[in-house]
Amino acid sequence: MSEQLIQTLNTEFREKETVEVMRGLASRFEGSIVFTTSFGIEDQVVTDMIFRNDLPVKVITLDTGRLFEETYKVYNRTIEKYGKPIYAYYPDRETLEKFVSEKGPNSFYESVENRKMCCHIRKVEPLGRALKGMSCWITGIRASQSNNRGNMDFFEWDGGFSVVKYNPLLKWSLDDCREHVKTNHVPYNVLHDRGFVSIGCAPCTRAIQPGEDFRAGRWWWENNSKKECGLHSH
Ligand code: SF4
Repeated sequence: MSEQLIQTLNTEFREKETVEVMRGLASRFEGSIVFTTSFGIEDQVVTDMIFRNDLPVKVITLDTGRLFEETYKVYNRTIEKYGKPIYAYYPDRETLEKFVSEKGPNSFYESVENRKMCCHIRKVEPLGRALKGMSCWITGIRASQSNNRGNMDFFEWDGGFSVVKYNPLLKWSLDDCREHVKTNHVPYNVLHDRGFVSIGCAPCTRAIQPGEDFRAGRWWWENNSKKECGLHSH
């Protein structure tokens, strides 16, 4: 069933412009379509398309509690500019309190296991809540962001969250995103001007040097892990 649905969507929307695809999806999955933003430049492009075109897509963010101050500033500037809500999801309080009390606030530096547990509590579980009852999940993924993402398709079935996943920027380059943001005066995270490309939690993200891999600034102390937080691994 899910495979058939993905095939249908791929055929139905193959030749359409991104905004028209999102409009079509919003109509097909009325009231159960969501876009998740972490306020990186790619996500800002998609948010701009949704808000400027008044698309009935719910925009949400996962506030891990460990984000950069600069990220909160983009959050604020975005809701001010468009006058539309971005719904915040937080980690489950009891689970997080137990985890931090037992392991300490920065246990993610000690082991991959702790890091994955932290990402699970602060991101994956809240995402599961955000996607509950939803049928379609729009993301800001670009294929060139990492090797793992190179094999993705525009439409995919996410069996873990049981939703259709649509990746509208899959074929976009970073320069395409920069151009869109500049042309349309979209607020963006100033950390992008300081060498940060993929921006996550403050203690786990650093700027990258020219020539370094796109994801090298994430969990930079880990050598052999997959550099994903579990949101897109289903
Ligand atoms: Fe925790 Fe770091 Fe993952 Fe954020 S990126 S949830 S601080 S391990």
